[in-house]
Amino acid sequence: GVAGEISSSDVDKLSKFFPPCMLNLHQALMEKSHLKHSGRMQYGLFLKGIGLKLQEALIFWKSSFSKHVNEQKFNKDYAYNIRHNYGVEGRRSNYSPYSCAKIIVGFGFGGNSDDVHGCPFKTFSPNRLKQFLNAASSYGGAQVTDPDSKISDIVALAKSKHYQVACTRFLEMQINSRLANKDAPSTTNHPKQAAGKPNSDSVT
Ligand code: SF4
Repeated sequence: GVAGEISSSDVDKLSKFFPPCMLNLHQALMEKSHLKHSGRMQYGLFLKGIGLKLQEALIFWKSSFSKHVNEQKFNKDYAYNIRHNYGVEGRRSNYSPYSCAKIIVGFGFGGNSDDVHGCPFKTFSPNRLKQFLNAASSYGGAQVTDPDSKISDIVALAKSKHYQVACTRFLEMQINSRLANKDAPSTTNHPKQAAGKPNSDSVT
């Protein structure tokens, strides 16, 4: 492919390097073959930010939704919003990925059980966060040494509202275990994202 671009078929492979908020959305999308509007915005703009171009985004979302949504319905109900996010419809604004600050504040977060957008370090209960991070730590074959105590520390940070610090610790844990297992990300555009910076401007 072209440098800095990813194709629809790369997304699943790359998801093991995603920050938890995006991995959560990706897994929900794969499992349910659907995401609500806020989730599509948060995840769709992130995918755009890591190099998924419009045509590939349309392929990715169409195939991800295909269990419940046929092509005609997809084109009618969903394609416009995707094109809109890429600035080819409506006001033609060039939308950027949401920052952690915006995601954490919880745009449109209704607390419904089927809301999967937002920042898991904030929205998940400590137990759920622990389970999720445990699963995420081994997702894609990463082998973390002593994950339980590391994850307990991370959950404690989240509990005391240090969401971004908790996220950074988690991503460092993943990166270190991958480096130790020689499974570091090989695409050049990705480590930046795997460092938990959907929008590098707003992360401090
Ligand atoms: Fe996503 Fe930022 Fe939350 Fe990490 S801290 S899970 S990158 S919103």
